[in-house]
Amino acid sequence: MREIQSRMNNTHGAVWVIAEQIDCRILTVSLQLIGQARKLADELQTSVEVVLLGDTLDGQTQQLFAVGADRVYLADSPDLVFYQPEIYTKIIVKLAKERQPEIMLVGSTSMGRELAPLVAASLGTGLTAHCIDLVFDENKILEQRVPAYGGLLSIICPEWRPQMATVAKGVFPMPELDKSRTGEIVPLDVPADIPRRVRTLEVVHEEPEGVPLESASIVVAGGAGAGDLEGWHMIAGLANALNAALGSTRPAVDEGWIGLETMIGQSGRMVSPELYIGVGLSGELQHMVGVTGAQVMVAINNDANSPVFEQVDYGIVDDCRKFLPILMEKIKEYQENLVTY
Ligand SMILES: Cc1cc2nc3c(=O)[nH]c(=O)nc-3n(C[C@H](O)[C@H](O)[C@H](O)COP(=O)(O)OP(=O)(O)OC[C@H]3O[C@@H](n4cnc5c(N)ncnc54)[C@H](O)[C@@H]3O)c2cc1C
Repeated sequence: MREIQSRMNNTHGAVWVIAEQIDCRILTVSLQLIGQARKLADELQTSVEVVLLGDTLDGQTQQLFAVGADRVYLADSPDLVFYQPEIYTKIIVKLAKERQPEIMLVGSTSMGRELAPLVAASLGTGLTAHCIDLVFDENKILEQRVPAYGGLLSIICPEWRPQMATVAKGVFPMPELDKSRTGEIVPLDVPADIPRRVRTLEVVHEEPEGVPLESASIVVAGGAGAGDLEGWHMIAGLANALNAALGSTRPAVDEGWIGLETMIGQSGRMVSPELYIGVGLSGELQHMVGVTGAQVMVAINNDANSPVFEQVDYGIVDDCRKFLPILMEKIKEYQENLVTY
């Protein structure tokens, strides 16, 4: 028997955000989700509640209220200093069974991608991963929108609660801070008897290579059309010459040409550069939703009928392996002729 079922009356549970912190700093995606949760909660005339787990987090709760939370459930313990899947799941599931939230939003981070399905499965409810929009239908059921079949698909979970979704950083804007807002902090007990078959012992921070994608003013993204590692190095060379961040599509990652952390799109990163250059990629919506914030867009593709050309400002129809060396030569000439003062 599932424990949280649809309520047939008109009162709605709260909109929850499972907030994430690293080294006691709340992640941007969590703050963005609280902003969106605020809008949804106002439409439902209910409250925004945030679940925050970690160690020595006292100083962090005020910013959660400032971006829209009404209540923070705080589990603060040295046992929670790192994300631990079993204990985090147990605490959230127990609380959700008691409080019965209407909606639960989780960041599409390394933690969220694991935690959200664990929680959803334990609660016997549905989960939509990597949403790019969240709105209500006329019955106040959450439409969880994802790119699919060349358009947007709305996934709904009308029968079970909470309605759960993961969302990447940058999908929703950063809400305005209202430092005068306050709320209630509800301390949570951390149970001692939880099995810990999986334990996080240490978190090692990797220094990202090259220009960071999210803050880059130029992004060069490569796709399957690179053909092989040699072709990929040409695309990486263009990024390097332009002092641009190098992004990728899923096939480039699957081929092992570059790491997953560079993938742009629905299940990757959201970028908003002044200039985006897509090389050897077809413009599938799952990738293009990650570049909607770009100001000027260019595509290089050898197929004049590629859908990518309908989505960019400038298109170059050519084999990238022939075109890139010519372009690189021109960039070099231009840079050598630049007058420096
Ligand atoms: C749930 C889900 C989530 C996904 N999330 C993401 C995501 O976050 N990010 C992402 O990128 N993908 C994602 N995908 C995959 C996505 O649907 C596409 O498959 C992917 O974006 C296509 O990558 P591509 O354009 O590199 O490859 P393709 O679609 O194969 O396109 C390659 C293009 O290269 C061109 N080309 C070939 N040779 C050359 C050449 N020599 N010179 C120039 N052009 C050439 C071809 O004409 C073609 O247009 C997701 C898919 C699913 C189902």
